[in-house]
Amino acid sequence: MKDMLRKAQQEHYAVMAINCFNLETMRSVIEAAQSMHSPIIINILQDHLLRHGDPEIFAWLAAHIAKKATVDVALNVDHGSDAELLKAALDAGFTSVMADFSAMDLEENIQATREIVQYAHDRGATVEAELGGIGDACGHQTDEDMKTNPQMASRFAEETGIDCLAVSYGSSHGTYPDGFIPPFDIKRLKEIHGAVSVPLVLHGGSGSGQKNIENSVANGICKINVGCDFMNGTRDGVIHLLQDDPNINYFELIHRTEPAGQDVIRQYIRWAGSEGKAA
Ligand SMILES: [Zn+2]
Repeated sequence: MKDMLRKAQQEHYAVMAINCFNLETMRSVIEAAQSMHSPIIINILQDHLLRHGDPEIFAWLAAHIAKKATVDVALNVDHGSDAELLKAALDAGFTSVMADFSAMDLEENIQATREIVQYAHDRGATVEAELGGIGDACGHQTDEDMKTNPQMASRFAEETGIDCLAVSYGSSHGTYPDGFIPPFDIKRLKEIHGAVSVPLVLHGGSGSGQKNIENSVANGICKINVGCDFMNGTRDGVIHLLQDDPNINYFELIHRTEPAGQDVIRQYIRWAGSEGKAA
């Protein structure tokens, strides 16, 4: 993932990281990226990693599909807070992990992140970490106090040796109330970008809107996480198909809902500017 993000940083675009949780979502996301000749990151939440499989199954499946893909594919653990599980994922072949120790205080976070960085770098893998808090779109949204402090971010990146940093400047995780677009603090993002040299990551990309996404990419964001919009797009596809034919075969239902989710991914790839950027 590191090389993918460095290229994005040099050429001023962002790579989309889409939450997946099974074979179908991984294959569908990679197919969408291929149709745009864009690099892509498969993001597996720690919770999904455990509920829908295990590190070995996901690493094997992703490697198998990625080998046949015509674009670069990275496999990342999203929001991993269990150090042993992150190490198991790296052993299984994940190309990167997000070490999310943001619940710890700064010194503990630095210590825990550094340990994962050492483990990952010994295996040629990439580490993302987070500094600042990301709110909940339909609950307590990201407020001023949760935003990333640029000086702290600079120290954190240097002392941990991470490869990319998730930062907070206005986005929240989840699905916003209908019609709500979060105000992004681009001034803060510029300050963080000026203080930190590693590629920056936007979490909670869903529902941010084209303008916020494009402004973020123009100011140092090189990886954009989207989960909810992909899941909701796919869910809406399921609803429409069931309304049309409540007796549809389950395997037909799953297969025929893929295009709805892929349309969402293609739109984000356009906004992120990664179309045609596959190496
Ligand atoms: Zn996130």
